[in-house]
Amino acid sequence: MGLLALGTPLEWPEAKKVAGQVREWGIEQLLAIWRRAKAKERDAMLWGDEIEYLVVAYDHQNNKVRLSLRQADILEALASDEKLLSQGGGVPDVQRGDPKKSDVAAPVFHPEFGRFMLEATPGKPWGIGFKDLLDVEQNMKWRRVIAKEHMAPNEFPITMTTFPRLGSPDCITPPYPPSGPKLRSQFLPDEIANPHIRFPTLAANIRARRGRKVEINVPVFRDERTPWPFHDPTVDYDLHNWPEDDDVRNGAAKENHIYMDAMAFGMGSCCVQITFQAKNIEEGRKMYDQLSPLAPIMLALTAATPIYKGFLADTDARWNQISRSVDDRTPEELGEKPLENDRWRIPKSRYASNSTYISQDARLRKEYLDPNLVVDPALKARLMEGGMDDLLATHFAHLFIRDPIVVFAEDLQQLDLDKVDHFENLQSTNWQHMRFKPPPPGNDTGWRVEFRPMEIQMTDFENAAFCIFIVLITRAILSFDLNFYIPIARVADNMETAHARDAVNTQKFWFRKDPFSPRPAASTNGRSGGTNTPGADATPPPLGPVEDEYAQMSVDEIINGSASTAGFPGLIPLVESYLDSMNVDVETRCELARYLDLIRRRADGSLWTAARWIREYVQTHDKYQKDSVVGDDMQWDLVKAVERVTVSDGKDEVARQMFGERRGGLKTQ
Ligand code: GLU
Ligand code: MG
Repeated sequence: MGLLALGTPLEWPEAKKVAGQVREWGIEQLLAIWRRAKAKERDAMLWGDEIEYLVVAYDHQNNKVRLSLRQADILEALASDEKLLSQGGGVPDVQRGDPKKSDVAAPVFHPEFGRFMLEATPGKPWGIGFKDLLDVEQNMKWRRVIAKEHMAPNEFPITMTTFPRLGSPDCITPPYPPSGPKLRSQFLPDEIANPHIRFPTLAANIRARRGRKVEINVPVFRDERTPWPFHDPTVDYDLHNWPEDDDVRNGAAKENHIYMDAMAFGMGSCCVQITFQAKNIEEGRKMYDQLSPLAPIMLALTAATPIYKGFLADTDARWNQISRSVDDRTPEELGEKPLENDRWRIPKSRYASNSTYISQDARLRKEYLDPNLVVDPALKARLMEGGMDDLLATHFAHLFIRDPIVVFAEDLQQLDLDKVDHFENLQSTNWQHMRFKPPPPGNDTGWRVEFRPMEIQMTDFENAAFCIFIVLITRAILSFDLNFYIPIARVADNMETAHARDAVNTQKFWFRKDPFSPRPAASTNGRSGGTNTPGADATPPPLGPVEDEYAQMSVDEIINGSASTAGFPGLIPLVESYLDSMNVDVETRCELARYLDLIRRRADGSLWTAARWIREYVQTHDKYQKDSVVGDDMQWDLVKAVERVTVSDGKDEVARQMFGERRGGLKTQ
């Protein structure tokens, strides 16, 4: 989650005073990249994945599982493993430079926000070949083995999105008392965050900018014996350590909701992300736009987050909670007070669904864009003056409506156009569901696009399957020039819909009906390269109302196709057509089918999401009182069961509903 630069961080409101300067310098750095890299061509079609883990520590004497705060020790052990280093893996070190890449390319480990988290990436990017796709799962397994080898014997790198009882008493080891000066959380200690100064400063400055603590209220799941109305019984209304303790007395904790009050409750969640390198900027912009409407569908399909702070929630996905956990908007920006000191009302948190499309694609109708998008007009003008086109300038001028949160005093001496620190400051704290990444200076990397919505899955098989699916659908998009455009506001609606309990089976999502809709004539495109393009003078097919282009569909229809002849063909059939067109050999095709089958069957409801499985596990646990409470003993059994699912690769009996016949027939190796 961003670069770990070192320096003296400014406290809020000192950072606020230099926000304008950081933004302006960031825009100048962006323009410098733009000038250098806008014509960059023929970059290799590479991609990479990122897996985030929770480190759990089992206390076998007391049948208790806690989060281990030993991230730094584990990373240290990884960084000093000579064998790993000789294979190019380990931990990237700013002093030493990135590990050198060898053929073996051992995985690389990174810190994350939570001091109980780890992140791992492959040692070198994946290439264009289909064979590479077949190595992903093994590589993910290897990463977990290496991570585990550098942990204490009672620790395990588990891939659950959230620790079920994070924020309950005695949930971390070593123990620390809550209510520290940075987070001021009544549930969690400051030590919960990675001690690198960037992280506590992020949390503290978000809180300070906002003028109160972050407020995360998740609707509680109402079971037969859940007290109703529900008032979160863990909230302490009598705490008086910090002014922020008044938040709960001022109504921060909402009725019928689970209440949480710190960045760690959101940014302590785990996901799986994929970054693609495009062959040039235009292809990157197209990937950004076309993958964007897929995000909510993938969030619903990967949903794995039904428990918060020891209670069953009424939602299945992490997204909104992370969004609230870093929401630094002031009361004026939130529209709670008239605008006096702030510049505009802002409808979304810094962590939110995308608000822009950026491709110079003739099929991008202005009706798909947000007419009320907030942009910084001066920064947009500067970008356009520097030669950037309107669409891309709008995108960045939208991201740059935010303040930088962590500013290092040392970086304000002089603007360095060969660096991207100020640009990245804003870019990397805009956590949208897609990220468009310009080439960094000083190396060969091209324009990249990151796909960010998916929740982490319990097994490496599933994480690999979802990555492979996204890679293949991206290739199909490019190969068939697919069109998934719908209004960006409908994508945002879909992100909300994806949170519903078992959204895969119960909800409908806005989706484009015809992914093959023709391009308007090239002459209307405004960027057509050729002269005398055949058909350039042809009249473009008349466009009907935008509303006729899309409809509400189930995830099954979107993934597997609709039975009706006029219906959507389905993303998996599109991937299959693409594989047909590429003459993939039979063996590879069979291997890929194992992964695609998981997506297919999860979409048609025959296999369960992790969220549904965890929910069922709790609700049928013999200690469960039908009161929405997930106690310590249930958590112990649940985390143990999840570990069994992971280690058995989904073949343990307990995993039946998530993997079906895979237990017998669909073997990994
Ligand atoms: N853990 C965050 C999530 O679940 C993402 C952090 C990152 O950008 O690496 O979305
Ligand atoms: Mg991460």
